[in-house]
Amino acid sequence: MDVYGLLGNPVGHSLSPPMHEAAYEARGMDATYVTFEPDRDALGDAIRGASSLGIAGLNVTIPFKEGAIDHVEPDDLAARIGAVNTIAFPEGGSAGADDRDAVTRPTGHNTDAAGAVRALRERGFADRDDSLDGATAVVVGAGGAGRAIAFGLAEAGATVRVANRTVERATALASEVPDASGHGLDDLPTLLADATVLVNATSVGMESDESIVPSEALHEDLVVMDAVYRPRETRLLRDAAATGATAVDGTWMLLYQGAAAFERWTGRDAPVAAMGRVLRSSFEANTDQER
Ligand code: NAP
Repeated sequence: MDVYGLLGNPVGHSLSPPMHEAAYEARGMDATYVTFEPDRDALGDAIRGASSLGIAGLNVTIPFKEGAIDHVEPDDLAARIGAVNTIAFPEGGSAGADDRDAVTRPTGHNTDAAGAVRALRERGFADRDDSLDGATAVVVGAGGAGRAIAFGLAEAGATVRVANRTVERATALASEVPDASGHGLDDLPTLLADATVLVNATSVGMESDESIVPSEALHEDLVVMDAVYRPRETRLLRDAAATGATAVDGTWMLLYQGAAAFERWTGRDAPVAAMGRVLRSSFEANTDQER
């Protein structure tokens, strides 16, 4: 049996195990997906241990996405983003991080970028005449998710404007992303006036029913995606729908980053319909439990 897993701390409420197990079932694979919660200072040991044990692939989540890059061979996009959420192990395992031979090191990838782009393409732009390629996109947030989304959108052909509470982080990120600009949150109304994409990549909206974007700055030409997926329907998405904009909730990005990880590990198309069905039902069961 192939073993896949998630490294994070905490990982208790993760929706990845049921989503990936649904994929294995749909593809008739003899595989399982488990969660691991290593100590915060034991990331390197965990990755080396997984490698020695013959784990087939790992996802990485908070707080390890940035640190994991030091223990793998990152691909070009993950290196530019500075974070890894998917690790693939070479066939037959490897010596891991301390091995001097790069060929045998686990490889590191960032599927958050591809997940965000696919969510916008398939859920946001599917019924529109225009596309993500050539769009002007406003990304709010310059943390891990903001970095992945900004690089992903630029690769997809969008012009990226980053707005962040800490302006220096926005300008620093914008200086790394081709043709991007960095701004403070006060600039949002101006930035959004001629934009067709808005992504919230901050955690605002998760803990409280707040939106980081003033509702008056939204308009019907926008595709609005929230990376926040708990709750699914955030204040930002409700405001977006009320203005006639297209709203894309964060579970789509979650689904498509998982699909991209599955495809990276197995070389097979991900069964996204089955993964999405289980993601949604697990999400609802989880939310009921938390109530
Ligand atoms: P992070 O690295 O900690 O970054 C947090 C970002 O939020 C920073 O830009 C921070 O601004 C901003 N922020 C936090 N509190 C704020 C406030 N009160 N007012 C204004 N800005 C605030 O976190 P992350 O890993 O990027 O995650 C961000 C969100 O994306 C989380 O909700 C996470 O669950 C979600 N996410 C979703 C997916 C998905 O698949 N749907 C994938 C990854 C992440 P400063 O720089 O000024 O501190």
